[in-house]
Amino acid sequence: MKRFSILAGCVLALAWATTLAHAAANAPLKVVSLSTVLSDLARNVGGDKVQVIELVKAGVDPHEFQPSPGDVQQVAGADVVLVSGKGLEGYLSRLEQSSGGGSGKFVDVGSGVGPSLRLKEDKKTVEDPHWWHSIANVKKAVGVVRDAFGKADPADGAAFAAAATAYSARLDALDKEIKLKVAELPREKRKLVTSHDAFQYFARDYGFRIYPIEGVSTEAQPSSKDVAELIETIKKQGVKAVFFENIENPKVVAAITQETGAKVGGELYADGLGAPDSDAATYEAMMRHNVTTIVNALK
Ligand SMILES: [Zn+2]
Repeated sequence: MKRFSILAGCVLALAWATTLAHAAANAPLKVVSLSTVLSDLARNVGGDKVQVIELVKAGVDPHEFQPSPGDVQQVAGADVVLVSGKGLEGYLSRLEQSSGGGSGKFVDVGSGVGPSLRLKEDKKTVEDPHWWHSIANVKKAVGVVRDAFGKADPADGAAFAAAATAYSARLDALDKEIKLKVAELPREKRKLVTSHDAFQYFARDYGFRIYPIEGVSTEAQPSSKDVAELIETIKKQGVKAVFFENIENPKVVAAITQETGAKVGGELYADGLGAPDSDAATYEAMMRHNVTTIVNALK
């Protein structure tokens, strides 16, 4: 906490200087992104008229991320800050304050994509922040990003609008492709057992039922009662594969697969894109990877 307030003063001066520099030189719009998905959308909508600075990079857990003093400086010097929202960035108000905040450059993309599903967390329900697993939501997000860029840089507004339209058409094609892949699975096999409840928006759009693994979705080790209940569910539902995101106990995984005959279904990208050299480096690639992994494992 303390380091934020100490930094705030010099960071304010820096923000002022950077804003002047941008206006004078007509340099690319400086866009800070707090999510790997938003970074990809920003590149697709902004092209070479934006410089995307990724604070949350591939492989970083966005639920655990904390901005460093260097990150605060980047935010202070940014023209636009893209926020995933729906409660994902617990550090947001601190970041706004310590970076000088106020200027309206923080764009809460998640609040513009439509209603939130709810998620159980420690016996209460919270907004489900994983909205990007719905292509309909991402199409709305593209509109939010386009409008934010156009507001910050009106001279390039037409270019942003054209790029957003072209990218949205690709998202429509992706949606059709995913529906075709999902159609390979009969409805009664569309059962998703995952250890990290991140796929509710995907399940809603493509007709899957989620069986959340109670007691296993937090960092705590699952109790033997939780594991026994899970095994019962998998057997009863005839689920052929289970997707583990964050169970690090190989004994638990082995017990579940041995007792049920279900196999481990492969890696899903729940919280963002994969590394640049992976097969999930863009939003489109990530969605293709997930749906292919899910459908092939459950067939
Ligand atoms: Zn998550």
